[in-house]
This record gives sequence, C-alpha cells and structure tokens, in this order.
Amino acid sequence: MFRFAHRRYSLPFRQPVRTAHGVWAEREGLLLRLEDQSGSVSFGEVAPIPWFGTETLEEAEAVCRELGADVSAETLAAVPERFGCLRFALASALSGAKPDSFSEKKALPMAALLPTGRAAFDVIGSKADAGFRTFKWKVGVAEIGDELAMLDDLIAKLPSGAKLRLDANGAWDRRKAERWLERCAERPVEFIEQPCFVDAAQGADASRRSDDLLLGLANDFPTPIALDESVVSAGDVARWLGLGWPGFFVVKPALLGDAAAVIASLEQAKARVVFSSALETAVGAKAALRLAFGFGGEPRALGFWGVANIS
Ligand code: MG
Repeated sequence: MFRFAHRRYSLPFRQPVRTAHGVWAEREGLLLRLEDQSGSVSFGEVAPIPWFGTETLEEAEAVCRELGADVSAETLAAVPERFGCLRFALASALSGAKPDSFSEKKALPMAALLPTGRAAFDVIGSKADAGFRTFKWKVGVAEIGDELAMLDDLIAKLPSGAKLRLDANGAWDRRKAERWLERCAERPVEFIEQPCFVDAAQGADASRRSDDLLLGLANDFPTPIALDESVVSAGDVARWLGLGWPGFFVVKPALLGDAAAVIASLEQAKARVVFSSALETAVGAKAALRLAFGFGGEPRALGFWGVANIS
C-alpha cells in the first residue's frame, strides 16, 4: 500500500513555444507523490499534450481523485492504457523508490531548438559556440514559399558537420510535404518530423490514409521522416513497428505509459529513436532521461528543452 497525493501545477515558459499547433505559453500538469509503508517518498509527473491525442489534464486529475489517499500497487497498475501520461507518472514514481539506474553513459548530445522563421538566424552562432551540432527548426508555421526560401540561408549559417532537423508538426498536405522533401534531398537534414498528421478524431479512414501517405513519402524520398504526433501511445509504436516504418521514432517517454516496455520493443526492432521531452518539469524529465540514457540503440541528440524553458 502507498499514501498517494497529487497536485496541479501551472508554470510559464520563459518564451512561449510556437509550433504549427499554435502558441504554447505555460506548462500545466500534475505532480504525484507516493509514500510507501517504510516512509520512503517518490514523485512522478503527468505532463499531457492533448493536441497530440493524449488524455487531458482534467481527465488525469479525475482519475487521481478516484484513486484516493491510500492505494495498492495493483490499483495503480490497473489505470487504463488510454491514460498514458498518468501511467508514466505512476510508473516513474514506483521506480523512483529503487536505486538510481542511470547507465554508465555519462553524456548524450543535445539538439538546440531554434526559434521559427528568420529569428533562427540570430541564435545559431551562439548555440554553435556553446557546442551544439544538431539544430531543430519548426516549420509549417509561415507560408511555405517563405520558409523554403529561408532554408539555404539557415543551412549556410550552421557550423560545419552540423545537422538540421525540421519539424512540421503535421502542418502539410501531400503536395507541400513533397516540395519540402524534394528541397531537402542532398542537404544536411537529418530528418523531417511529422510532415503530415490526421488526428484520431477525424476517423479511422482518414487516419489510415494519413499513415499510407507517410509511408509513401518515406519510401519516395531520401530524407528520412520522423514520427512524433503519430506515436503517442504504446499501441501506436507497436502498429508502426508492425508496418515496418523505415524512418525515425520521436519518443516522448512522458506520454507512453509503460515507456520502458515500449522502448525495449524499439530497441529490439533496431529502430532509429530520438528521445524528446514533453516540455515537462525536472520531475518528469529526470524519469524520461533515465530511460533515454538506458537505451541500447544508437545514441542521437536529445530533444529535451522543458527544464531549461520553464521559468
Ligand atoms: Mg515534434
């Protein structure tokens, strides 16, 4: 049995995060506290991203209220799969009581997140001086012609040997995605993240067509595609592995419930994995980073900005 408590938080980002989904100004989530019978205390964080298709904060909070103040491990394990963010928080609180399992890996490279549009040009120099060699630029925010016209200027400002990741957050249709993929061939673009996306609310047929479109684009162009919005649950990851997805998987452990099992399945499939934060606080980020450091596949630059961005 455990003593269980939860508390809602709301923290502004130092700078609002601008993506094709809109402007995100503050991170809201839940902090969970578990105390076992020996008095040992551990914490977990629920950090939903509802526009990706996770549960909402209110839904997670309602489940926490129902759990009550005294809970068994069995009750915690019985929280339904669709509460992936809550399940991750509970799993990380439960494993938090164990000795720290950071692997022998001492460091992993980080990607630098650039502002959208031309504002990116002004910060590349300082990020490069700080040692970054992987840069992520959000696209699909402005008019496609304007963004395409900026690409080569942006690449010219990168330090030698650097790689660029583009993230469209699902903003494009097929034609726009093809224009970008044509342009990126033979440029130092590590991958294009989520060029297109149809959320589950638009129906199973629309989702299937969108999946087929992503698979077609991945097979037709040399620049790899990364799935992010498309993989927000353990079931999504299993489905894309089953489809033989040839590109990258962006893994946000905070959304994935039993993230350790999902990551083990990716490792076994020798999938290309990029670990990403959900712009959570240090509580959730520590649990997610522990999994990233334990990953046995090829290490790639981390996309963890939450801790640094929350003021
Ligand atoms: Mg993304």
